[in-house]
Amino acid sequence: MSPLQIVVIHPELLGTYGDFGNARVLAHRAQVRGISAEIICTSHDQSLPATGDIYLLGGGEDRAQIASVDALRSSVGILSGALDRGAQLFAVCAGLQILGESFPGVTGEIITGLGMVPILSLPGSDRIVGEVLVQSDLFDEPLTGFENHRGRTDLRGVDPLGRVLVGGGNGGGAIAQSERVDGLIAGNILATYLHGPALARNPDLADHLLARVIGGLPGLPEGEEIADLLAAERRGALGAAHFGK
Ligand code: GLN
Repeated sequence: MSPLQIVVIHPELLGTYGDFGNARVLAHRAQVRGISAEIICTSHDQSLPATGDIYLLGGGEDRAQIASVDALRSSVGILSGALDRGAQLFAVCAGLQILGESFPGVTGEIITGLGMVPILSLPGSDRIVGEVLVQSDLFDEPLTGFENHRGRTDLRGVDPLGRVLVGGGNGGGAIAQSERVDGLIAGNILATYLHGPALARNPDLADHLLARVIGGLPGLPEGEEIADLLAAERRGALGAAHFGK
């Protein structure tokens, strides 16, 4: 069987806060289960491979984000075709914004996105920076991560990844905490504002992505539970800081 192909899109542009680690976590959690996996990096002067199983878009500064979306315009057909045949796309922050109709540029100008999901990102009055806790229906325990973004995303009917218990997520500022949501799930696209890297901090989310491609996952060998322990520790610290428990 050919190895699971994890395609990191423009790591030289979109890899802020260690988002490249998402690829390493996916490859590791596949390999320790006996599933061979390879990481393929595609830079902005290359077109995307059509054969990927999981495509990753990371976060980035505004200029890098614009350079990335411009380079990706000619590869939208390849990416959509891959998703149509069952590949998955996981996107973080700038990566999430890129997938939508438009997002704010360096001075707030409107940059046309890839239009793969009907969401809209607009500039906020300030940056949202800090720890985030998100409750998703996909998992029993909340997801944790770190966010740093000025853009706010209106999902316009697309399903969120989860409700924000702590932090801003897609919104923040004027949006009441009880109304805040993070990320999106649309077909084979799953996206979030969480850095960390998100999949290192949330091994269940990594396994969810792998299972979407592979189906039922074999159990993990002994020693791998360290990732769950670290995730629980982080959830506990955030819960204690914000809810006193
Ligand atoms: N440049 C985008 C924003 O500020 C995304 C930032 C990021 O990926 N952390 O909204």
